[in-house]
Amino acid sequence: MNEPQAPSAALSAGVTIAQALTAARTAGVERLDAQLMLAHLLQQPRSWLIAHDQTVLSVVQATQLAQWLDRRRAGEPLAYLLGQAEFCGLTLQVGPQVLIPRPETELLVEWGLEVLADRLATVSAPSVVDLGCGSGAIALAIQHQCAAARVTAVDASAPALDVARCNAEALHLPITLAQGDWWSAVVGQRFHLALANPPYVAPEDPHLIPLRYEPHSALVATEHGLADLHRLIDGAASALHPGGWLLLEHGHDQGAAVRQRLQQAGFAEAETRCDLAGMERCTGARCS
Ligand code: GLN
Repeated sequence: MNEPQAPSAALSAGVTIAQALTAARTAGVERLDAQLMLAHLLQQPRSWLIAHDQTVLSVVQATQLAQWLDRRRAGEPLAYLLGQAEFCGLTLQVGPQVLIPRPETELLVEWGLEVLADRLATVSAPSVVDLGCGSGAIALAIQHQCAAARVTAVDASAPALDVARCNAEALHLPITLAQGDWWSAVVGQRFHLALANPPYVAPEDPHLIPLRYEPHSALVATEHGLADLHRLIDGAASALHPGGWLLLEHGHDQGAAVRQRLQQAGFAEAETRCDLAGMERCTGARCS
């Protein structure tokens, strides 16, 4: 990420895929990222590149690739360069208005689907809310895998809701969108399942430096990163049906604080699940 050579210099007209990959390596950009850029530019699967590495890029393609390599080298996430990210098997449009969906958040979706599978034994169309939906990733993945659910996606940010709306339309998934701050967007409604991946990084956390391209408001919360988790927990009892579940993503060191707050708020069966790295990542509990 700190090589002095500009990759654009190595990507003059007539460059082949193989030469472009070499230029990317020289520029310090990971091979997988460079392959995904090329696959996107050429509208081909990544596997195609290997058998066609003598294909010559057009001037437009080489120019776009050179710009992407420069921006990637400066630290901009690949998902923003390509304008899309994969989540639970869906391709979502993303931009700097929204957090890039993370693989660990798929854990929250899987847990939500387990809750819904149980609930479908007694309720034909369970109601679900995704609070702080950003690109709509959680809400859309739930709706995609559970057609019977009635899913609402909430965000305080109008630009984020525009992204979620585009994704819902592109994927033909009939979620409802509502603008507002956490529970205030759905006052008077009750849900069988609420999920959220709220901001939970403390303002002084150095881990924010590589996340600088993503919306601060989607990442950072006061009270050591717990402020929004607390608001979600404190408002949940009056917004859930009896027996409804609240599932929350949180930081690796926040599980105990979240469980304690849930118990204080009268929730039962608080349980924490770990992500693939073995870190406490999601906590859920049932409204009694
Ligand atoms: N999991 C993200 C990260 O630490 C943070 C997402 C969030 O704050 N909700 O990279």
